Amino acid sequence: MRIDLHCHSTVSDGTDTPTELVTAARAAGLDAVAITDHDTTAGWDEAAAALAPGQRLLRGAELTCASPDGRGGQCTIHLLAYLFDPHAEAVVAEHAKTRAERRVRLHAMASRMAEDGYPVDADALMAELPGDATAGRPHLAQALVRAGVVDSVDQAFSELLHGRNRFYVPSRRTPVLDAIRMTKAAGGVTVLAHGFAHRRGPTVTAEVVEELADAGLDGLEIDHPDHEPPARVQLREIANRRGMVITGSSDYHGTNKTIRLGAETTAPEMLDEIVSRATGAELLVGA
Ligand code: AMP
Ligand code: FE
Ligand code: FE
Ligand code: ZN
Repeated sequence: MRIDLHCHSTVSDGTDTPTELVTAARAAGLDAVAITDHDTTAGWDEAAAALAPGQRLLRGAELTCASPDGRGGQCTIHLLAYLFDPHAEAVVAEHAKTRAERRVRLHAMASRMAEDGYPVDADALMAELPGDATAGRPHLAQALVRAGVVDSVDQAFSELLHGRNRFYVPSRRTPVLDAIRMTKAAGGVTVLAHGFAHRRGPTVTAEVVEELADAGLDGLEIDHPDHEPPARVQLREIANRRGMVITGSSDYHGTNKTIRLGAETTAPEMLDEIVSRATGAELLVGA
């Protein structure tokens, strides 16, 4: 069994539609794939409809959270939530609020760049985004590539869109303990995404990871492209000692990133553990 549990589609900042994601997962030799778009479950039904016989789909979402960093400050962390009830009121409301604020925020970032003379049109950018899709910096990065300002999404991030740049506007963050509580109340399972990805920016300390485990965090995403070997060793020690779920995933975003589907994978018994802990939704198997 080859399993990849962290993937994005066009309903957030990926470039494959949910159908294309499921088809690409099959082509990549994956037996199970997750759809974990930022702040939305809008891709779940389309992905489910695209399953081939026997192909498995783990439905989830990724939430951007604020957490104590363990050094007296705060930092941003990402929480993967799997198999929660997509109709749970608190989750639906949190997602909707975040998506709405993300649109205002991306418009603000594009406006700052336009004021500085960059050839981006904030209104046009927002108009191009499909319906209720979750707006993210990769959308602005793509616009900058199309306008010839940069050669790649990656260059847009490293030169213009990173968190310390003057164009940066923070996006809404859910307090992590609220996010864990909300997901569990909706029958879901929580996994800390790329917790020690130091190259992305400030991360939490190991002590904070333990506190999140105390608060009910189910698992840790350990094999992730942004995790160096020492980060994996440290996280694995915590997960094993605390009996946590361990996942490995590509964090696939289509052509917005260079990582391939299945570049990192999860052990079958860990997928089973996620499914057995969840009560909000089921693992889908194509008929
Ligand atoms: P946002 O959620 O709008 O703040 O944007 C963060 C998203 O940008 C992440 O979820 C990644 O998908 C993406 N991202 C971050 N860094 C890079 C990068 N260097 N290249 C491509 N995408 C990136
Ligand atoms: Fe993303
Ligand atoms: Fe993430
Ligand atoms: Zn992600």
